[in-house]
Amino acid sequence: MSEVYDVVIVGAGAAGLSAARQARETGLSFKVFEAKNRIGGRTFTDTTSLGMTWDRGAHWLHSADVNPLTKIADELGHPYHRQEGSFYRHLFLGRKAGKPVWADEETYEAYRAEFESAYDVAHVQGEAGEDIPVSRTLDPDTRFNRITRHLFQAICGADPEDLCAVDFARYSDTEKNWPLERGYGALIAALFADIPVTLSCPVRRIDMTDAHVKVATDDGVVEAKSVIVTVSTNVLASGAIRFLPQLPASLQEALDGVPTGHANKVAFAFRRDIFGLPEKSHALAIDERKPARSALSFQIRPFGQNMAIAYYGGSEAADLERAGRDVMIAHARGMLGDMFGTGIFKEMSGVEATAWTTDPHMLGAYSYGKPGKADMRARLSEPVGDRLFLAGEAVPLDWYSTVHGAYESGISAAQKAAHCLGRGVAGEASA
Ligand SMILES: Cc1cc2nc3c(=O)[nH]c(=O)nc-3n(C[C@H](O)[C@H](O)[C@H](O)COP(=O)(O)OP(=O)(O)OC[C@H]3O[C@@H](n4cnc5c(N)ncnc54)[C@H](O)[C@@H]3O)c2cc1C
Repeated sequence: MSEVYDVVIVGAGAAGLSAARQARETGLSFKVFEAKNRIGGRTFTDTTSLGMTWDRGAHWLHSADVNPLTKIADELGHPYHRQEGSFYRHLFLGRKAGKPVWADEETYEAYRAEFESAYDVAHVQGEAGEDIPVSRTLDPDTRFNRITRHLFQAICGADPEDLCAVDFARYSDTEKNWPLERGYGALIAALFADIPVTLSCPVRRIDMTDAHVKVATDDGVVEAKSVIVTVSTNVLASGAIRFLPQLPASLQEALDGVPTGHANKVAFAFRRDIFGLPEKSHALAIDERKPARSALSFQIRPFGQNMAIAYYGGSEAADLERAGRDVMIAHARGMLGDMFGTGIFKEMSGVEATAWTTDPHMLGAYSYGKPGKADMRARLSEPVGDRLFLAGEAVPLDWYSTVHGAYESGISAAQKAAHCLGRGVAGEASA
């Protein structure tokens, strides 16, 4: 008779891998299925496409001073930069008389004050329980409104109109965001190198109508006592995995209330330093001549590499991706050329764009709560029938959207599964 696993884990991103590690530590037998031909999910460090090191997905240890992965980075010898204060010290305002205009200190401080105030107001409203779109807390007529909008999109993966203020305010942020020199994907890959994963093997069906859960893949069916599913909320809602019986209506409603938002990057590589800015710089860009042109942000010369990486979020990230790789690259290139002069492209050695929204295994970047759906996120952590457990970045109430949130949620799901199997450690996972 074939083995009945204690737990089958669907997905080998941070959540699935930490669930597997926890299952092993608790003495549970387990099997991990991953649709892609690599582990890491939305953490993926690319060292080949441009001959430089850059993260196509997660890069920053968010809330780094309390993030459990910071200590692990220390232990595994993965260096990071202890960035302090605001990222963006350079603010581009457009071109005048054929020359780039960079903000002086006073203008820069005016932008900072405006953004911080907008951020604080959204927080205060959310903390007060105002389950309204963040856009209602913003003033659309200020000088730097476009930057505020862009930063909300990049941080939250959604436009301010689509963001719930209460969910936004629940995110726990110590404002320490430290980039990893060798990449977040590289850290996750190193941390979980010893976890056995069946790659290139998407789970198609999870049948819970019998005594054991039957998990169907293209390689056949395995049986388990419980299952931990870590795919994004958009993948779950898409029906790519068929559940028998269907997921409870309340859970389906929660998947709709906490969708996966959108984020993308365009990375430019150059043969030499053509920026004239210190390494590890960040720049914000708006074109004050063209009010309809959206703002954009760039990482410049990360860890001394001659690169510029443009960050997109929300509907703009998704729309540009759907318009096609060349369109997205041209968009970022237009702003970069305005900032540093189009002559820089003579020194360009390569360019790459990410495409997380159309990736069938992700269908987005990170989750956000829709207005009016503030309490839906909590439903994602409720076990179904004591044998189906969701984990992943969408599940935590305060560390959502992040790698460390996904990591912790995987541990918690495995503890709950162990508890339900009567194998838990006393005091764990009773919540
Ligand atoms: C552009 C971008 C920038 C980001 N920046 C940061 C950052 O700086 N810091 C930060 O903390 N977070 C960041 N994030 C978010 C972070 O990457 C995610 O929150 C986290 O990696 C999600 O981990 P997870 O395990 O929940 O999901 P995933 O990593 O998506 O893992 C789920 C896995 O399930 C697999 N899968 C899907 N369908 C199936 C199936 N049918 N069968 C089997 N397997 C399947 C997927 O291939 C995937 O590997 C960023 C994300 C993106 C896209």
